[in-house]
Amino acid sequence: MQPIPYFQFRDYPAGLEAEVLQALTAAVGKKNYVLGPEVHAFEEEFGSYLGAAKAVGVGNGYDALVIALKASGVGSGDEVVVPANTFVATINAVLQAGAKPVLAEPDDATYNLTAASAGKRITAATKAILAVHLYGQTCRMPELLQLCRESGILLVEDAAQAHGATYNNQLAGTFGHAAAFSFYPTKNLGALGDGGAVVTSSAALADFARKYRNYGESQKYCSELVGINSRLDELQAAVLRIKLQRLDVLNAERQRLAQVYLQELREVGDLMLPVTAPGSSHVYHIFNIRTKYRDRLQTYLQAQGISTAIHYPVPVHLQPAYQFLNYKQGDFPVAEELAQTSLSLPLFPGLTAQEQQAVVQAVRQFYK
Ligand SMILES: *Cc1c(COP(=O)(O)O)cnc(C)c1O
Repeated sequence: MQPIPYFQFRDYPAGLEAEVLQALTAAVGKKNYVLGPEVHAFEEEFGSYLGAAKAVGVGNGYDALVIALKASGVGSGDEVVVPANTFVATINAVLQAGAKPVLAEPDDATYNLTAASAGKRITAATKAILAVHLYGQTCRMPELLQLCRESGILLVEDAAQAHGATYNNQLAGTFGHAAAFSFYPTKNLGALGDGGAVVTSSAALADFARKYRNYGESQKYCSELVGINSRLDELQAAVLRIKLQRLDVLNAERQRLAQVYLQELREVGDLMLPVTAPGSSHVYHIFNIRTKYRDRLQTYLQAQGISTAIHYPVPVHLQPAYQFLNYKQGDFPVAEELAQTSLSLPLFPGLTAQEQQAVVQAVRQFYK
């Protein structure tokens, strides 16, 4: 048996790689390499895919978060409620915007932030909730939106893992004041390098994002605000335009693979499988299982050539870099438990049935 990677780029659906190469060659031929026709077309197409929202292409998902927060008016003196279990980019973006991240416990079934836990962290200084659609499952948006309305604060979405995911058939990234997407290559909609987008239904916010990503310019050499350089690359936009056409197919394949795991690993040992809440859809950016034997299972699988990953091994509040936030062990028992027990199985478009069966058999064998 060949080793089974945790993730690998494969030509799925067959022919996609050739299409991407062709689009790249065509974009190179247009000789317009910064904020050219491909970026503009992708912004239009991604906006209309999401439905009505405006999309502004930026350099990466982190910048998209920072710009979404700044565009929403988040800054110095503000607090932003964020889930305690997320990738550090979410937290860093809040800090970069000049605000203070205030962590909140995730739900122990969906691992997402809930209105109940976020509500407990709201103070007079809270400006926004930054909800992360973790692993590809949308948060329960109606409750979060209601909480924000009642508290007079904003909702910003970190949709970096949730391209194409929905809540009650509405797409992630279209609920809040603003949303951030990442097009890091392994994301559900991935470029061949870095990329990101700010999404908003507000013309004013989109306008801010468009200026801010390009030195504050509305016209060449006319800066209306102090901006940065965080432009979506023209060639990446050409790649993304092709891949966007296949996003639903790619997500459907992830969902099909997830169903196989959910079926085949049901009631195996002490495994806890991902739960999709009513109303939410899950696009399985990550297929996360939980077991108290996590480290032993990971070692066992690796010995058989099966690679897995851990999202995330140390919660943010226990990382050395974030000691200044003044949290301690025990502050977020759910997040801490997730870090101890979570294991991500190989799941990516192009994973073969034979490979997936090998993973299933190895996991079952572990518990025998
Ligand atoms: C990937 C990711 C980001 C950051 O995206 P980059 O493009 O890598 O900067 C932010 N938040 C979450 C939840 C992510 O998974």
